[in-house]
Amino acid sequence: MINEKQLKREVSRRRTFAIISHPDAGKTTITEQLLMFGGAIRQAGTVKAKKSGKFAKSDWMEIEKQRGISVTSSVMQFEYQDKRINILDTPGHEDFSEDTYRTLMAVDAAVMVVDSAKGIEEQTKKLFKVCRMRGIPIFTFMNKLDRDGREPLELIEELEEVLEIDAYPMNWPIGSGKTLLGLYDLYHNRIEAFRPEELNNGERFIFLNEEGEIKGEHALKNESMYDQVLEEALLLKEAGNDFSREAISQGKLTPVFFGSALTNFGVQTFLETFLEFAPEPGKQETEEEQIVEPEDTDFTGFVFKIQANMDPKHRDRIAFLRICSGKFERGIDVTLSREDKKMRLSNSTQFMAESRETVSEAVAGDIIGLYDTGNFQIGDTIYSGKNKVTFKELPQFTPELFVKVEPKNVMKQKSFHKGINQLVQEGAIQLYKAFHTETYIIGAVGQLQFEVFQHRMKNEYNSEVVMTSIGSRIARWIDRDQLDENMGSSRNMLVRDRFDNPLFLFENEFAMRWFSDKYPDVTLTSLL
Ligand code: GDP
Repeated sequence: MINEKQLKREVSRRRTFAIISHPDAGKTTITEQLLMFGGAIRQAGTVKAKKSGKFAKSDWMEIEKQRGISVTSSVMQFEYQDKRINILDTPGHEDFSEDTYRTLMAVDAAVMVVDSAKGIEEQTKKLFKVCRMRGIPIFTFMNKLDRDGREPLELIEELEEVLEIDAYPMNWPIGSGKTLLGLYDLYHNRIEAFRPEELNNGERFIFLNEEGEIKGEHALKNESMYDQVLEEALLLKEAGNDFSREAISQGKLTPVFFGSALTNFGVQTFLETFLEFAPEPGKQETEEEQIVEPEDTDFTGFVFKIQANMDPKHRDRIAFLRICSGKFERGIDVTLSREDKKMRLSNSTQFMAESRETVSEAVAGDIIGLYDTGNFQIGDTIYSGKNKVTFKELPQFTPELFVKVEPKNVMKQKSFHKGINQLVQEGAIQLYKAFHTETYIIGAVGQLQFEVFQHRMKNEYNSEVVMTSIGSRIARWIDRDQLDENMGSSRNMLVRDRFDNPLFLFENEFAMRWFSDKYPDVTLTSLL
């Protein structure tokens, strides 16, 4: 048994975060670099190869066994400087789904990777919004500095304007693309050379005096770019935001690091500085109006994601659980709060893809995967203590894609309804109905959710479904008192959610504006 002191120590060295970005900004590349620093992988390209399925599964198991760490794509764990780091994957591209958002409910911080040639892109904005809502610290990595990108000042300005967050540059590029010489590291008062062998006799760092100038003679001093950077740095000091640890911890100020993931430039400095500021696992409020502290010895956690096995031969699912307090042990007796149901997390319930030894080390801040045969729903709380614990409900996210759905075989209504209801309960999909008819419409934030839905309906509920796309829509709820049924039209379809609350599915921004102009007194609200 781990004692209280040990538990406290273990918890305090956990750092759990997600990397958010728009596709192609460099999330995978930076993740690999971080894993390499942690010794979790030896070769760049490993995570990518796994993603694309080029890597045989057995190779992965082998890596995981050897290293005693999990390199699954959902949760990656490694050690660095006595910290136990959990990186949670936020799937993008065609894998973008509500789970991507929900994953952000299970982390204590976020790292936002931005392509410095492109600036803030759509998906980054969406994911940022969720982080902002949670008030967690957000760290920015301006990537691809080895390529010609946009002016650093312009990038900072855009970041502040588009995301409405203050930014604090921790370093500043000296040149960019072909002319990149290094980073002026304002935080550490040093220069990090891009090609140390050319610039600084192989030494990576050039240290500065109190005025922020290079001590003594140095070739870099004769570069005009260096003067420019000194000027810009001065400007930043005078006109920029003040550095504040508190503002960072509240997610009001984002420290910005420039660098290049591909050439592994500035990544290690980023990691080390990030670890100085990244928070330990936080406390959580419960519906019972209690505060669960991570070092409480009773085990508690909540399910934030359920991954169904797409292989019809294996019906099992994996419920991903964020541990909020205490320590997970195999065979631990817990209560499922929603049903007051007692269960033992024993043989069938294992730590996912981890070597057995690490199982005993899962404490608050860690993520475990529980093999599940249908007990869990998204948002479920489990706890080991005597007093009931129910963590606050996870938010629902406004779906953006919609399809009409009906059973292929009209004689099979029963299995159709059963399947839909269960998948809706589980949080796999959101259900709506046309306002006056029983036409089923399902909503999702990513196409993948529909595919998984269709697949699971067939394989788990023996119900083949026909889906007719309605396309992308802007969903906005309306107060029932304000509703006049004539307000609906083909451009703003009136539907009701599963709690019978009315909402419109607007064809586009234009249709929504047109509606607001016509009915200025009507308030339209969205989920998140
Ligand atoms: P993700 O979709 O965000 O995971 O992005 P990836 O990590 O897969 O990177 C997308 C592309 O950008 C790949 O071709 C990477 O090699 C490339 N890339 C990533 N980081 C850098 C960088 O720092 N510099 C350059 N030039 N390319 C990069």
